[in-house]
Amino acid sequence: MKRLSLGVIALAAMGLLFGLSQFITPSNAQSGNFNGPANARPASTPAKPATLAKHPLDKGDFKVGFSPVSRAQQPKKAMPKDEVAVLQEIADGLNKLLALPRDVYLNFDKCGEANAFYNSDTTEVTICYELEEQFQDEFKSITKDQAKIDDMVSDTIMQAFFHELGHCLIDVLDLPATGREEDAVDQLATILILDGSPEGRRSAINAALEFDIASRDTDPNDMAYWDEHSFSKTRFYDMLCLVYGSDPKNMRTIVGPDGLPEERAVRCTSEYQRAERAWLRLLEPYIIK
Ligand SMILES: [Zn+2]
Repeated sequence: MKRLSLGVIALAAMGLLFGLSQFITPSNAQSGNFNGPANARPASTPAKPATLAKHPLDKGDFKVGFSPVSRAQQPKKAMPKDEVAVLQEIADGLNKLLALPRDVYLNFDKCGEANAFYNSDTTEVTICYELEEQFQDEFKSITKDQAKIDDMVSDTIMQAFFHELGHCLIDVLDLPATGREEDAVDQLATILILDGSPEGRRSAINAALEFDIASRDTDPNDMAYWDEHSFSKTRFYDMLCLVYGSDPKNMRTIVGPDGLPEERAVRCTSEYQRAERAWLRLLEPYIIK
């Protein structure tokens, strides 16, 4: 079985935890602006008690591995220890940040296709080994620098994980989502990757690039107009729009004929602010303060 490159996943895990904690710190939840200054928290905020009372809605945990339903079907299903360790770090981070009404399982699996899933029957978020292979191949088409490729793969896996986490949260928290759920969770993934740092912006651009590369092989006569996802090229521009909208001053370089068209760019600051505010408001009741 082809295993995930642990270096790639460990990088993604670090980015993931940092992005999430930046997004949903209590001060951000109150201000609705996670890129605000570090001193935005009111001076009168009392010091945290030594032991926090359990969040009233916290009845479950993010767990590593396969759900009881999956294990009943395939008792021998297991992940290597090193992969468990990486996912455990992610699960621990998420458990500190979010209250869950029931258990959610995080795993890597061989799926028979390059994909990532959230399964509402088993409450499992699965990143397929084949997906990393596909990302490696795609990024090899634009550079020969393996270190760069690994970075880009890591950023794109992070996007895929946050995207599936978004589907998971909509399901287990029963969050309202209008419009395409696929677009809503793409927005969450991008907002989480955009942690306000230059690295976050670079990661989001790398993840957007994968959609651009993926769109190149699609025959215009073979477009899946029926698909629940937006077209890859649209997802590429949607992500670029959020990147630019999160920091128009520093991201001006991505606007232009070869990047984000000016016609779209003018709307991106408000697009970003609306998407961020919407997700913060939806998640606020479940954020562990
Ligand atoms: Zn999806």
